[in-house]
Amino acid sequence: MIIAVASGKGGTGKTTVASSLALVAAEKGEVLFLDCDVEEPNGHIMLKPRWHKKETVRVPVPEINQEKCTLCGRCAEVCAFHALVVLPREVMLFPTMCHGCGGCWHLCPTGAISPGWREIGQVEEGSSGKIGFVQGRLNVGEAISPPLIQAVKERIRPGVLNIIDAPPGTSCPVIRAVKGAGFCLLVTEPTPFGLHDLELAYEMAIRLGVPCGVAVNRSDGDDSSIRQFCHDNSVPLLFQLPQDREVARGYARGIPAVEVRPEWKGHFLALLAFLEKGGYARCAN
Ligand code: SF4
Ligand code: SF4
Repeated sequence: MIIAVASGKGGTGKTTVASSLALVAAEKGEVLFLDCDVEEPNGHIMLKPRWHKKETVRVPVPEINQEKCTLCGRCAEVCAFHALVVLPREVMLFPTMCHGCGGCWHLCPTGAISPGWREIGQVEEGSSGKIGFVQGRLNVGEAISPPLIQAVKERIRPGVLNIIDAPPGTSCPVIRAVKGAGFCLLVTEPTPFGLHDLELAYEMAIRLGVPCGVAVNRSDGDDSSIRQFCHDNSVPLLFQLPQDREVARGYARGIPAVEVRPEWKGHFLALLAFLEKGGYARCAN
């Protein structure tokens, strides 16, 4: 099964929840943790894997032969990402804007463009005890992350519990991370901002056709707005983790929440039981 852990924004405790879920699940069976938050992967700080393998991920990018180019402008016209600009004497490429779609080299009338390659990051593989670990690490300054997220997801193992730590937000990278998951756990916090971002993340999961449930992190005891949202949308509110200074201190030192608060394991066991029973399949979404 593939579970994506997502949140509408950063800082809600997504990695706290994902890493704790992986640790609790590993007591019961095989687990693979896939850190798809490739701009800032930090699951490794909690799970401390030993690395075994590293692979470079590349994307196609046009190579322009200026001698064959007639400056006709066709390539700039077809590039939906404005990665090409035709100047009076040459065609200029902005590589970080290129999505490697191939439109320009297929449509250049003089064959002046051929596909080359550009490195965007690495996929690193390792293990932490019984937990298999994969993470993507995007190169600094790189803007195109979905191909790297896809490369991480290509390591998904059938027959084990795959936990995807998704990037924050609701844009292309998150969609690439959550798409195809069997369940999406939406982590939120009980604030007006938290509710707003939860609404966006929920909408995204619905559009992707991925059943979802909600986990509240840093609950101050008044989760009424989140409860109301879950009630109105028939989304299961799976558990609430209280505000806890010791957990926050542990996080800063790379200690997972369930190691600081072993009594929280019950929440994750209940979530696993819910998923095993197929409870999510009955979710109204
Ligand atoms: S489409 Fe080909 S020939 Fe036309 S401007 Fe672009 S590179 Fe030059
Ligand atoms: S490969 Fe696609 S995105 Fe990249 S420059 Fe060509 S048309 Fe634009």
